[in-house]
Amino acid sequence: MSSLQAIIRTETKVYPERFMGYLSVIIMELNITCLHRRNMLMCTECCGVPVYANATSAKCKQCEKETALRINPRMLGPVIDETGTTSTGKLILSSSAWEQLLGRTAEELVASTADVLKYLEQRLLFVRVTLLFGWVAEEGEGVGRLCIWGVRM
Ligand SMILES: [Zn+2]
Repeated sequence: MSSLQAIIRTETKVYPERFMGYLSVIIMELNITCLHRRNMLMCTECCGVPVYANATSAKCKQCEKETALRINPRMLGPVIDETGTTSTGKLILSSSAWEQLLGRTAEELVASTADVLKYLEQRLLFVRVTLLFGWVAEEGEGVGRLCIWGVRM
């Protein structure tokens, strides 16, 4: 999102450590049903390898430890902002932001049937949402991490 990054670059000069803001976007693509079909709704990384499942936890194939999974960030595809700029990078959403976007918890999401997920995907597609984001600068980098901590429908 180049315009967003431009805003952030300007604002981070004023508030070097931290910046909060919001952005109105339209969801252009969602990958709920396809990730569900591939058993990849949730994911994490353990022992340097990705772990996927349609469950809130799964066993790592390397260390065989049960590990907690988070919503797969690939679920949310490109979004387009008010200037018509499409985001290219993956957005990082907090678990409460996902909950607000999907209208359900991760537990409820993985327990949903294929039909419910298809309906959810259709309902959210091309919907305008407000992303509440926070920007945390990382030391010595001149760049930082952008995290979506809330979603307003
Ligand atoms: Zn492991």
